[in-house]
Amino acid sequence: MEETTMASQSKLEALKSMAYLCVQCGYCREKYSDTVLTTLPAYRVCPVREHSAGFEHYCARGKIKIAQGILEGRFPYSEELVSVLYTDPDCKLCSWICHAEPRLDPPKIWRAMREDIVAAGFGPPEPLKQIDRRVAEKHNVFGARPDRRARWAAGLDLPRTGELLYFAGCHASYPKPEIARSVVALLRTAGLDIAYLGEDEWCCGVVQWHDGSVEIARALAEHNVEAIRRSGARRVVTACAECLKSLKIEYPALVGKLPFDVVHVSEVLAELVAGGKIVPQRAPGERKITYHDPCQLGRYCNIYDPPRKLLTGIPGVELVEMRRHRGNAWCCGHGADMVKSMDPGMAAAIAADRMSEARETGAEAIVTACPRCIEALERVPDALKVYDLSVVMARAMGLEI
Ligand code: SF4
Ligand code: SF4
Repeated sequence: MEETTMASQSKLEALKSMAYLCVQCGYCREKYSDTVLTTLPAYRVCPVREHSAGFEHYCARGKIKIAQGILEGRFPYSEELVSVLYTDPDCKLCSWICHAEPRLDPPKIWRAMREDIVAAGFGPPEPLKQIDRRVAEKHNVFGARPDRRARWAAGLDLPRTGELLYFAGCHASYPKPEIARSVVALLRTAGLDIAYLGEDEWCCGVVQWHDGSVEIARALAEHNVEAIRRSGARRVVTACAECLKSLKIEYPALVGKLPFDVVHVSEVLAELVAGGKIVPQRAPGERKITYHDPCQLGRYCNIYDPPRKLLTGIPGVELVEMRRHRGNAWCCGHGADMVKSMDPGMAAAIAADRMSEARETGAEAIVTACPRCIEALERVPDALKVYDLSVVMARAMGLEI
């Protein structure tokens, strides 16, 4: 057992100093007012702790204590730790709120622990293993036929090579093709030529980056980087927050500086609107709209303003903010399928929290910028309408998709 413990410490060991910088203040459990003396927290911070009877080991402070225990050899990785490490959407709210100096990034610690626990022979849990197998064999999270990946692009005559390349991702390629077609319609309206890899585009690997199956993630990244390099693209645009985070943050950490930039479609569209290349004409139906910040777009990639600029630039649209927004936005519960795989009821409860916050604003619809968030939010019973930002923009332009 000792050997297993030592062998499984390697990734966590690299983050040892961060684990010991935690001052155990507990702000990552609940946040108290900085200005008003009160015994009641101003708001809860950790969605998992909130929906797991409040157990300490599910919030960042508790998990960091567990990391310290492993680092000190007080206990080994074990089956019991699988539930603790995988019941987490890696939403990064704890990073945003952390009061240590410098601010910690706790999800990095349990992502390292997941790599180690997989190496130690425990995890990922079976539902995630199934996704891993589907991605390894079919290159998409659904296990759908790879030769159907590019069906959404039928009739669009998208070239395989070009300076600007659209990376659709699994969700826009299979269940949500309206997103992919909206992106292409918008960029073409602005006079841009768009290339697309077709079936040569593989899953970005988001689940595997998070569930510790890094060898699969590495194979996907190497394939995609090489395919994009062959396309000649200088700029890659995606409408999926998880694809963006994988390509922009995970891939360079693996293969070094990429020979292309990676941007979210909201950034490109905001540039085009500012330059007068596309001009939204009218509200796309609902007029009072709230915007949900996807964790992977906001807290991971620091993209908050472009989606808001686009929405407020549509004539007739009123953007109303949820009480938690931008860096403080509550998670949709999806988070790379982690929580859904461990505890679907908890994932649904987190999404229901977010839907309640949206309803509080009086909005008629939610707009977001990640197909995974849409999937989570639209499953909430009696959900408000949930739209993708690109689809809303295409409708605001009167484009046929
Ligand atoms: S990443 Fe989110 S769910 Fe996980 S511990 Fe931090 S606040 Fe809680
Ligand atoms: S807020 Fe930061 S320093 Fe405080 S307990 Fe949580 S992780 Fe540790």
